[in-house]
Amino acid sequence: MEKILIVDDSMVQAAQLKSILAPEYEVSIAQRAEEGLEQAGTGGYSLILLDVIMPGMDGFMLLKKLQEEDATRHIPVILITSLADIEHEQHGLVLGAVDYIVKPFHPLIVKARVNTHIKLYQYRKQVEDQSMTDQLTGVANRRRHDRYSVVKWQEASRLHVALSICMFDIDKFKVYNDSFGHPAGDKVIAAVAKTASNHLRRSTDFFARYGGEEFVAVLMGDEAERAFGHLKKIRQAVEDMHIPHNPSVSPWVTVSVGGITVIPRREQSYDTYLKIADTMLYDAKRLGRNQVVWADEAMNQWREK
Ligand code: GH3
Ligand code: MG
Ligand code: MG
Repeated sequence: MEKILIVDDSMVQAAQLKSILAPEYEVSIAQRAEEGLEQAGTGGYSLILLDVIMPGMDGFMLLKKLQEEDATRHIPVILITSLADIEHEQHGLVLGAVDYIVKPFHPLIVKARVNTHIKLYQYRKQVEDQSMTDQLTGVANRRRHDRYSVVKWQEASRLHVALSICMFDIDKFKVYNDSFGHPAGDKVIAAVAKTASNHLRRSTDFFARYGGEEFVAVLMGDEAERAFGHLKKIRQAVEDMHIPHNPSVSPWVTVSVGGITVIPRREQSYDTYLKIADTMLYDAKRLGRNQVVWADEAMNQWREK
């Protein structure tokens, strides 16, 4: 069931709106703008119905704040008000409201407009989801990674939690393609993605296909040694699939992994550390492949072999 947030200082009006929408939607009410802002950020809302005139922060101000935050910008907002004049309506739409309902409203009109905007939102989400998913493997693609990494970097720096950034690359994959053909290679890429994502099941874990036979994983909250340990398990799990490689190269398909654990600071950038992870990956290749090389912020290095 889609979730709708009503922000309205009048309990009577909020309750009336809720009774119109409640059979079809999960409706929450916030009676103050500040409360509404906080609740909207907790996620999961598909629409916000926002009263314009409220004591303290008014609806226009709240709308502006909702548009400024990464966590709430995508949620469509319908303004509800008795301000029937054109200037107010225009102001609301310029600030980013998707629609404007003038009081007194008819329940059927409210319902119809809400249904329309919920449908549009669902459609947009579906298209966005598809555009950020890798078709071959079903995991996140590079575009999602690029968006996610910016948000997570900020979040981790705000909360002072460690972020582990790591890169995987399938070993001698050109030889695999040359030996078994490109379609067989595609199946290997999908199998590796599945095995890795099966080991990254915490809600804070992130895994994406970064390019051809390269993947990126981002873990939150683990210290370096622990993240290193976890990635060793994933590396081993890929080897344990026992997908035959060209015997001149290695008995099974394997991956090399490079990673770094860092407590992010705002003035630094995620990309700097992604590059270090890539350097660690290069070391893993150089040291003989099928292994994990890890670093911490002080550039202490852990090697598997
Ligand atoms: P290394 O161990 O140093 O990583 O050697 P490698 O052969 O894996 O590295 P290289 O980067 O030279 O080659 C990567 C190969 O991955 C080349 C390319 O044909 C293959 N590849 C990239 N994307 C895909 C894909 O989507 N499907 C298939 N089947 N192969 C791909
Ligand atoms: Mg590569
Ligand atoms: Mg490779």
